[in-house]
Amino acid sequence: MYSIRDLADGDFLYLDGGRVEHMASPHNSGNFRRKPRFLVMHYTAGSSGRSSASWFTNPAAKASAHLTIERDGSVIQSVPFTKRAWHAGRSAWRARDGARIDGLNHHSIGIELANAGACVRTASGAWTNPLGVRVSPDNIAEARHKNGAVWLHGSGNVSNPGWEIYPRDQLVAAIEIAKLLIEQYDLEDVIGHDDISPGRKTDPGPLFDMNSFRGTVFGRGEDGDLLWEVRAGTPGGLAIRTGPGKANAKAREENLAVGTKVQFNEAEGRWWFVTVLDADGGAELDGWVYSGYLVAV
Ligand SMILES: [Zn+2]
Repeated sequence: MYSIRDLADGDFLYLDGGRVEHMASPHNSGNFRRKPRFLVMHYTAGSSGRSSASWFTNPAAKASAHLTIERDGSVIQSVPFTKRAWHAGRSAWRARDGARIDGLNHHSIGIELANAGACVRTASGAWTNPLGVRVSPDNIAEARHKNGAVWLHGSGNVSNPGWEIYPRDQLVAAIEIAKLLIEQYDLEDVIGHDDISPGRKTDPGPLFDMNSFRGTVFGRGEDGDLLWEVRAGTPGGLAIRTGPGKANAKAREENLAVGTKVQFNEAEGRWWFVTVLDADGGAELDGWVYSGYLVAV
């Protein structure tokens, strides 16, 4: 369970009572002058999240974010939430109330997701991004960016690049942290770097389903919650239990069949508290399942 604590040098993220790893970045503009209004999602276009967070400590970087989430869901904090990180650069956004907001660094909290971003296939069949980060073909999906062709160094304009798929554990961490930040700081919207700096930025890109994410973190079910289903090949179906862990009694004797759809509510490690949906999408029952047998749909 994530929480936020107000320390002497600002607000920091905690997980189960322990502070998440802190790699302080000098790249910030001090405390917010006005309350932040938005959460901005990014990808690092890098290899590990650690390498990106480490770069944010480098005086030459002139960039930072509040958090970087690794592919496995672990988190590194670079700037306290109460200070303005340098994640958005030149940027503008029209808020829901019609106000035009310029320079989103002054009005938002920024989260980086470790991800290679847009990739092209090399002659040898490997997928790499312009910085040479390699991604397994299993973790690539080709898609067109909503803002059009993507200019990639060395390849020019690419209309349908490959994009690194965001792993489930990373998305779950992002959802839980986003919910907490929205509640704690009364944020009004989640937006992508490619929304506020179109033409200049392509992150978090087409594989980050912003509508679903927004719906999930704001609890606006009508926008479409992220759904998961019991994956093919799950032996005997998936047991649903009254608590996180195998020692807990089954919530229902009958296991969830392959293809059963569930809605994520919260996680305790790899165990998830979910709502099982019936064929019409109605809630059938709640319980805990081992998430390793679920895939996103
Ligand atoms: Zn970005």
